[in-house]
Amino acid sequence: MTIQLKQVSKTFGSFQALQSINLNIADGEFVAILGPSGCGKTTLLRMLAGFEQPTSGEIAIGGSVVASSRSSLPPEKRRIGMVFQNFALWPHMNIYEHVRFPIRTHKETPRAIREREDERINEVLQLVGLAHLAKRMPHELSGGQKQRVAIARAIAPQPALLLMDEPLSSLDAMLRMDMRREIQSVHRETGSAIVYVTHDQGEALSMADRIVVMKDGQIEQVGTPQEIYLRPQTEFVARFVSKANLIQGSWSGNRFMPLGADPSTFWPGDAVADCFKSQGLYPVRPDQFRLEPAHTGGLYGEIVNVQFQGKEFNYDVRAAGQQWEVISPAAFKLHDQVTLHIPGVASKTSLGASSSAGSSS
Ligand code: ATP
Repeated sequence: MTIQLKQVSKTFGSFQALQSINLNIADGEFVAILGPSGCGKTTLLRMLAGFEQPTSGEIAIGGSVVASSRSSLPPEKRRIGMVFQNFALWPHMNIYEHVRFPIRTHKETPRAIREREDERINEVLQLVGLAHLAKRMPHELSGGQKQRVAIARAIAPQPALLLMDEPLSSLDAMLRMDMRREIQSVHRETGSAIVYVTHDQGEALSMADRIVVMKDGQIEQVGTPQEIYLRPQTEFVARFVSKANLIQGSWSGNRFMPLGADPSTFWPGDAVADCFKSQGLYPVRPDQFRLEPAHTGGLYGEIVNVQFQGKEFNYDVRAAGQQWEVISPAAFKLHDQVTLHIPGVASKTSLGASSSAGSSS
């Protein structure tokens, strides 16, 4: 079932929480809504669920309008499952009963599922790896197991759309990584569309088919994870998703000359969006820079902070009066003089003009 939002806005009193949202979600698609706190992610999700009504615009599910400023279909009449950040389990029900509850109570549960309820519950518990714990009560479960119960409960009646609101944010870092895989597997196995709200770029980039980046109640950019990460179209997306450094300098046609760089340095601008060109900026992700010893014909700087990360180093590099973040496998020491290069641009070292080694440590 496709989901369409047309010119959807929401105001609370005089505050505009969402403004003219247009979005189509394909059948079975995994869409992440990514943005900072307060940008309207949860409000958007609550409107899809039927807990909030749009102030203007329309929401259609499977071609039928379910919400507008005039009417709103209640949550139980939409084929939707929800998973919340805080699990929202019922303390008096065991796992089996949690999964059975929506099968029995959701008005939209397909008859074929109601008729083989026990089989469906076992199937869903198998999918989330909890079949052996069916009789356990919520207080006897770990955080990850509780979240799996919440997912099993949401998918049991076979919703066309699964809404997830920061479902991993109350889990510890290791578990969050494992649960990403589980959610991907649930998506593959169920075929439900997923709308997944998060402020975590890593979660959105690693799991979603498409990412909707939001800021101040509006959509900034919609695209595949690769498009969003590699070709940000706005300053906000570049900073928020790619953690990009916005290097200052001057554009001459499609060539960029960074401020404070060796005068012969030009960076190519084919992949850079117009909004950066008009502001004399060039976005470079921390892992995109190549670090070489000083004076190899690029942007010159000094290492002002070093963090060893195992496979690579996180550096703060001061160049042309600004500080940039760089992730590089090359080892340098605090106060080393370095040159920042970008991909596709040869340095004097790589051209054979200097005999400096690649590392000074
Ligand atoms: P977070 O990541 O912190 O949950 P969010 O992106 O999900 O943030 P929303 O919860 O959608 O943001 O809120 C968007 C804006 O709307 C916020 O400024 C919030 O204060 C406001 N808002 C949300 N619900 C209401 C309400 N019922 N009444 C008034 N303002 C509200």
